[in-house]
Amino acid sequence: MAEAADLHLMDFEQRSVPLVFQENRRARRIILRLDYGASRIVVVLPKRTTRHEGKRFALQNREWIEERLDQLPETVAFAHGSVIPFLGIPHRIRYRAHARGVVWCEEQEIHVAGHEEHVSRRVADWLKLEARREIEARARAKAEQLGKSVKRVILRDTKSRWGSCTTDGVLSFSWRLILAPRHVMDYVVAHEVAHLREMNHGPRFWKLCGEICHSVRSAREWLEANGTDLYRYGR
Ligand SMILES: [Zn+2]
Repeated sequence: MAEAADLHLMDFEQRSVPLVFQENRRARRIILRLDYGASRIVVVLPKRTTRHEGKRFALQNREWIEERLDQLPETVAFAHGSVIPFLGIPHRIRYRAHARGVVWCEEQEIHVAGHEEHVSRRVADWLKLEARREIEARARAKAEQLGKSVKRVILRDTKSRWGSCTTDGVLSFSWRLILAPRHVMDYVVAHEVAHLREMNHGPRFWKLCGEICHSVRSAREWLEANGTDLYRYGR
């Protein structure tokens, strides 16, 4: 999922707003888009438009930008009582002062033992572990289907893409995919694994992707509509 992203800051009176420039040859004019997950403004630049012009356009529309930023949905902390999606299903976080064990999941609840001040970090660590387990197993199984092998799976908190892959078989994913429904995670994994054979987004790539994932279309629609929502959690 290649996406050229380059970050700049735009200074308003009350705050600094991150701007990300994206070149898009199909765009017919400069477009501003709020990427609310990352609380930043994406400036889509058509062909032959400079970043300088993009920045000027953003400044001319600062009122629009400020209004959008003021309407950002609330972030949800990993804390006792919070409801977060796990594999797309809402789960309530429950701090269990006297329980044994560290973190476990039961009937749409995520239970966290230990000291209360560590709840946030424990939930985050647990989600990352679950993400690794789910994603790595999926990636290896799908690669095998294509006669390829995965050298390494890396999880990170990426902002501009859900996954990426190198020619030598290192796959990277956002751990936040564990918050998305399984079919969405399945698609993102399939997408990167398919790149092990086709390092492009041509018809052969999409055909391959469809062979190892049956939810390509619905997952892409889901990500388009809900993807940025996943950034609200644990921030
Ligand atoms: Zn891709």
